Amino acid sequence: MIDDDGFLFFVLKRYYLKIMISLTTPLSSIHGIGPRFLTRLNKLRLFTVRDLLWHFPTRYEDWSRIANIAELGTSDHVTVRGVVQEIKNIRTWRKRMVITEALIGDESGTIKAIWFNQPYIGNALTKGAIANFAGKVAQRKNETYLSNPTYEVVRSEDQVTKHTGRLVPTYPETHGLTSRGIRYLIAPIFDDLEEIQEFIPGEILESQDLPHVEDALHDIHMPESLPTAERARERFSFEELFLLQLNNLRQKLALKKQTAPKIVSSDSQVKKLLKELPFELTGAQYQALHEVFDDLSKPQPMNRLLQGDVGSGKTIVAALAAVVTASSKYQTGIMAPTEVLARQHYKTLTKLFPDFSLGIGLLVSKEARAFYGEGLETEMPKQELIKKIASGEIKILIGTHALIQKNVDFENLGLVVVDEQHRFGVAQRAELIKRHQEKTGHSHLPHFLSMSATPIPRTLMMTIFGDLDSSLINELPKNRKAIITKIVAPENREKAYAFIRGQARHERQTFVICPRIQPSEIQDDGVASSDFKKLLELDVKTVKKEFEKLSKKVFPDLKVGMLHGKLKNEEKKKVMADFAGRKTDILVSTSVIEVGVDIPNATIMMIEGSEWFGLAQLYQFRGRVGRGEHQSFCFLFTESHTRTTQARLQSLITAKNGFELAEMDLKFRGPGELLGNEQTGLPDIAMRALQNEQLIKDSREAARKIMEIDPEFTKHPLLMARMQAFQKETHLE
Ligand code: ADP
Ligand code: MG
Repeated sequence: MIDDDGFLFFVLKRYYLKIMISLTTPLSSIHGIGPRFLTRLNKLRLFTVRDLLWHFPTRYEDWSRIANIAELGTSDHVTVRGVVQEIKNIRTWRKRMVITEALIGDESGTIKAIWFNQPYIGNALTKGAIANFAGKVAQRKNETYLSNPTYEVVRSEDQVTKHTGRLVPTYPETHGLTSRGIRYLIAPIFDDLEEIQEFIPGEILESQDLPHVEDALHDIHMPESLPTAERARERFSFEELFLLQLNNLRQKLALKKQTAPKIVSSDSQVKKLLKELPFELTGAQYQALHEVFDDLSKPQPMNRLLQGDVGSGKTIVAALAAVVTASSKYQTGIMAPTEVLARQHYKTLTKLFPDFSLGIGLLVSKEARAFYGEGLETEMPKQELIKKIASGEIKILIGTHALIQKNVDFENLGLVVVDEQHRFGVAQRAELIKRHQEKTGHSHLPHFLSMSATPIPRTLMMTIFGDLDSSLINELPKNRKAIITKIVAPENREKAYAFIRGQARHERQTFVICPRIQPSEIQDDGVASSDFKKLLELDVKTVKKEFEKLSKKVFPDLKVGMLHGKLKNEEKKKVMADFAGRKTDILVSTSVIEVGVDIPNATIMMIEGSEWFGLAQLYQFRGRVGRGEHQSFCFLFTESHTRTTQARLQSLITAKNGFELAEMDLKFRGPGELLGNEQTGLPDIAMRALQNEQLIKDSREAARKIMEIDPEFTKHPLLMARMQAFQKETHLE
C-alpha cells in the first residue's frame, strides 16, 4: 500500500511537474533559471514563459549542413561532429592574445579548430569529448582549419542539438544573456509545455494557410528550413495585425453604444461665424468642419482624428466646433501638448472670436485667465478659474493635457480637443471620462477630436488608428508660398550663414534645430539610451554649444536666443516672446521642443545633422516657417554623402505633401521611427508587419468577418482573452 501510495505520489508529482509549464508560468519557477539569469531576462522584459517564447529570433544562421572532415573545402559553412583529440590554450606574447587550438577527428580525418581570446573553451572542452563544431572553414599556409566554430557537446547519438547542425536562431540579446543562453532556455521548455490553445479561429488559419500556434512557435525557434521559419513568422505577424484591427473594431463598436450630447448648429449661426472670420476657409477646411459638425450632431460620441500639414489650419476647425458646443451649453476642453501652444491657442481663439461672451479660460501652471469678450479679460487665481469651470461660467477651457486631465472638473463637458496627438490614450480617456461622470452624474461621454500634423501613411492609419474616423486637410491656405528647400553640404556652410545674415538685415528670423542626440554618443557617455534625463542633458549641451558658436563666432553682430527642455517655463516663455517680438534674430533649439509654434516672421529653418531625423520630423520642422507672407527657406545641413541619405533628404524637396513623405518614410525607415520608436508597445514583429500591405488587408478582412458573425466573442472565448491581454500590452497614441 505504502509503496503504491509512494508510487502514485511519484507519478502524480511527475505529472504535476509536467503540466507545470504553461504560458503563464513565471520564468522564476522554471528549473535552471537562477536569480542572475532572471534579472537579465527581466531586463529584456521577459517575465513569463509566454514572454520568452514570444521573444522571437531576429535571424538565423545556417549550420544545417553536416559533413565529414575529409569533404571540407575552404569557405564552407558547416557543422562537423568529431572527437576532441587534443586541445590547448596558447598565449601569444606579441599580440597579447590567447589562442585555443583543438584537433578534431572523425572517421574520415582530422581538422584543426582555432578560437581567439576565448580561453574558457580550453577548459569547457576536454580531450575525448564528442562535440559538434559549426563554423567556417578557413585556410592558412596550406592548412585548413575551423575558425572560431560554435561547439556543442554531444552526449548521445539522438541528442537534438541547439546551437549546431541546424538553422540556429539569433535573438535580441542583452548583457550577459546571449543567443546561446536563450536557446538553452527555450529548447527544454518545449518538452514540458502544456498544450497551447489556438485563439485564432481555425477557419481563419486555414484560409490564410497559416500554421497552428504550437507548430509556429516550434518553427520560429527551431525551424527545419528557412521557409518554415518564414511561415511561422508570418503567422505571428498576422496575429498581431489581426488583434490590432479586431481591437480597433471593438472599440469603435463599443463607442457606438455610448451616448453623447447632440450638439446641433444652425446654418445661420455657422454662416455668421464664418463671415466674421478674417479669412475664408479652404475647401478642405470646409469639408473637415462639415464632418466634425456632422459627428457632433449625433447622439454617439465622435472619435475623430483631424490630420493636416503644419499650417493647414486645423485650429480654426476645432475652435468653431468649440464655439458651437458652447452655444449648445456644453463645455469644451482644448488640450495642448505644451504651455506655449496652450497660450497660442488661447490668443488665437480670443482674437478670432472677440464677441464670444460665454467664457474662454486659459489654465497653465503659473497662470489662469478668463475672457468674456474683447476688453473683458481678467487674470485670476487658479482656484477661481477652476471654480468657474465647475460652475459652467467658462465654456471653453484651454490648457495642457496634464492640467485638464487632473485638476479640472467640468460642469458639462461636451467636447474634448487634443492637439498634436494622434489619439487620446484609451487609459487617459477613461480616466477623464470617469472623473467627469462621477462628478456630474452625467452618463454621456464627451465627443473627442484629435489633431495631428504628423501624417500617417494610409496603411498605418487603417491598422493602428483604425478605431478613429479621420478627416484630412490636404491643402494649405492660398496665401502660402512654397518653401524653398536646400540640402547644404559642409563646404557651403558659410554661404548659408551669409544668407541668414542677409535675411536678418531684412528683419527676417531664423530657427536653428540642433541635431538629435544619438544613442551611440550616449553609450560613450556611459549611460543607456533609455536614460531620458541624461538624453535631455546631452541635448541641452549640444544646444548650448551651438548657441555659443553662433552667438560668439558666426553672428556676433546678431541677437541669438536659445531654447531647450531644461529651461524653466518662465524662461521658455521669455525666449519665445523675445523671438516673437523680434528681439532676437536667431533661435537655437533642440529638436524635441514646441511643435507647432507660430512665428510668421521667421523665414529660415536651418537643421543641423538633418540625416539623423525622420522625414516626417524634418517636414514638421520645415512647417514652422512659411507661415507669413514672405518667401521662406529650409536648409538641411548634412555631413553625409551616402546615396540613401541624399535620396531621403531629396524626397523632402520633391514630395507634394506630408502624406507622400510619410509613405516614403515608411519605406526608408520603417514604422518604428515613424511612430516614435518603442512608444507604441507593439512588438517588433508587429512593427515590421506594418510594412506588409497584403497581410494588413488579409488580417483586416479576417477581423471584420469575426465582428460580423460574433461581435460579442461568445463563440471565441480564447480570442477574447487574448485580446484583453493585447489591450493591456499596447498603448497606441
Ligand atoms: P495647424 O494646422 O498647423 O494647427 P493653424 O491652425 O495654427 O495650423 O493655422 C496656421 C495659420 O494659418 C494661423 O495663423 C491661422 O490663422 C491661419 N489660417 C488658418 N486657416 C486659414 C485660411 N483658410 N486662410 C488663411 N489663413 C488661415
Ligand atoms: Mg496646430
